[in-house]
Amino acid sequence: MSYQALYRVWRPQRFDEIVGQQVVTTTLKNALITKQTSHAYLFTGPRGTGKTSAAKIFAKAINCHHLKDGEPCNECDTCQAITNGQLNDVIEIDAASNNGVEEIRDIRDKVKYAPTQADYKVYIIDEVHMLSTGAFNALLKTLEEPPANVVFILATTEPHKIPLTIISRTQRFDFRRISADESFARMKFILDQKQAEYDEQALWVIARAAEGGMRDALSILDQALSFSDNKIDLDNALLVTGSVTKQLLHQYLQQVSDHQSGPALETMQSILGAGKDGQRFIEDLISFVRDLLLYQEAPSLINVESTGLSEEDYQALATKIDGSVLYQMIDQLNDIQQEMRFTTHPDVYLEVLTVKLAQISATSPKAATDTSANFQIEQLQDNITKLQQEITQLQQRPVAQAPTQESKPTSKKVSSSTQNMKINLSKVYPILEAATKEDLVKLRDIWGDMLNMLSVPQRSLLHVSKPVAASPQGVIVAFEYSFLYQKAATDATLETDMENDLKKLVGEARSIVYVPSDQWPTIRQNFISQHAVTHTETQIDGEDEDDSVKSDETKEPANQENDDKMITEAHKLFGEDIVEVKND
Ligand SMILES: [Zn+2]
Repeated sequence: MSYQALYRVWRPQRFDEIVGQQVVTTTLKNALITKQTSHAYLFTGPRGTGKTSAAKIFAKAINCHHLKDGEPCNECDTCQAITNGQLNDVIEIDAASNNGVEEIRDIRDKVKYAPTQADYKVYIIDEVHMLSTGAFNALLKTLEEPPANVVFILATTEPHKIPLTIISRTQRFDFRRISADESFARMKFILDQKQAEYDEQALWVIARAAEGGMRDALSILDQALSFSDNKIDLDNALLVTGSVTKQLLHQYLQQVSDHQSGPALETMQSILGAGKDGQRFIEDLISFVRDLLLYQEAPSLINVESTGLSEEDYQALATKIDGSVLYQMIDQLNDIQQEMRFTTHPDVYLEVLTVKLAQISATSPKAATDTSANFQIEQLQDNITKLQQEITQLQQRPVAQAPTQESKPTSKKVSSSTQNMKINLSKVYPILEAATKEDLVKLRDIWGDMLNMLSVPQRSLLHVSKPVAASPQGVIVAFEYSFLYQKAATDATLETDMENDLKKLVGEARSIVYVPSDQWPTIRQNFISQHAVTHTETQIDGEDEDDSVKSDETKEPANQENDDKMITEAHKLFGEDIVEVKND
C-alpha cells in the first residue's frame, strides 16, 4: 500500500474533529439541527485551518438522513459517496484553476436543475478570491436568485479580494489560526493512534513552525517521520523546520536591500540547497520581514533572541531598510506565494522574486498602502520610457493593410517592422461601418468606471488606452504603445472581463477590438476612403476589380470634393471634435 500523507488520512470527517474552530462548528451544527441553514456561506481564514474540511462535512450533514447532533453519520451511502468525492450533487471547484467565466456560467446553467441523488446540491468553491471579475459577476447573479435546495460554500484565504456585493449575500465564518497547544494535542493524538514514538519537545518545535495551520503541522510531521523510522526526535524536528537558516535569511535580505541580485540569488540557492522548500522559504521571509516592520514600530514587541540573530545585526537591518520597502517586499512575497502554488518550477518563480525584491527602492510612506500597484506602474513606466524611442520611429511609418491587398503590399506605406503585428481588419471594419458618435461618447463616459472594475495589472495594461470608435455592437480601443497592444491582444481573460464589465455598465454586449494608436489614423483613413468610394463612385464597380481597389488604396484624394466627402464621413463616425484634418 502506498504511503498516504497524514493530513489526508487524518482529514476530519466530523465537525468535532476539526481542530480549533469550535465557534464555527458549533454554529454550523446548530443551524443543521434547527434546519436554519443558509443558501450561501463564506469560510475565511489562513490556509490549512479546516475550511474545505468543514465545507465537505457540511455537505454530508445537510444530505445525511441519519444526522445526529448536527454530525453526519459517515456510514450511509450518501455520506460515503461524498467522502469519496463520488456524489454528483456535491461539486468542488478550485477557483485558482477554474477562474474563467465559463465555469461559473456553467454553474448558472446547471444550478436550475434539482439535485439528482441527494436532497441538496452543494457547490464548494475553494480559493474563491481567484475568480475573475467576470466570473464574480456571473456568481453574483446566481446568489441574487438562489434556486431551492442549493447551497454555496465559498472558501478563501483572502476575503478582502472578494467583492462586497458577494460577501453581503453570504453568511460569513472566520476560521482562526490554530494555537500551538491545539496543534500539539492533535499531533500527539495522531502519533498515539499510529503507535509512533515521539519526543514532546520535537512536537512543540513543529507546532510553532506550522504557525497556525494544522495541515502544515501534519506535513512537517510527515517529513520528520520520513527521516527516521516511526520516531520523532528533536534533531529531526529542528532540521525539518529549518531553524538553522535564519542567518542565511538575514544575509539574503541584506543583499536584496542593497540591490545585489547576483549574490542574493546565490544565498537563495544555499538556503534551498539546505533542504528548505520554496514555499517554506517564502513563508520564512514573510515572517522575517513582518518582524522587522514590527520592530521598527515597537522594538519591545520582538524577542530578538528568538530570531537567532544578535541584537546588533537585527537592529542594523531594521534601521537600514525603509518601512515602505518592507511593505513592498511583503506584497511581492504574497503575490509569488499565490502564483507558486500550482507550478512545477518553483525555482523560476524564486529567481524572478529575488530580482524583483532587489529592484525595490524606497518610496514615500504614504504610498505604502498600495505598493504593489505602484510598483507595477513604476515598472511599466520604465518600460515605456525605454520603448519611447523605438515607438517614435515606428510612428513615422504608419501602416494598415486592408484585407483586399494583403497579398500585394505594393503601397510604399508598408513598413517591415509593423508587418508582424496583425490587425484584424475583418473585425475592425464591421464596427466602423456601424459606428456612431453617440456610441463613442457613451463608451468614453463609462471607460473610467470600467477600468475600475478590472484588476490592478489589467488596469495598468489599459492605462494608456482609449476607445476611438464605437458602434452599438462593438468598440475599437487604441493603445498608445505597441507592446501594450500586443500584450492586451493576447490576453483572452482581459477581453472577457472587459466585455462583461461593459455589458454591466451600458446594458448590452459589445465586442472589443484593439488597435495600436500609431496605426489608427491609417486604418481610419483607409476605411473612409474605401467607404466613401463605394458609396459615391459605384459606377466603377464593374471595372477591373483589382485595379480599382489598388487605385483606391494608393491614390491621394484627387480633388476637393472627394476630401470634403471623407471629412463629412469622418465627422459622422467620430464626431467633429475628434477628427483632425491634416494637410500634409
Ligand atoms: Zn450519513
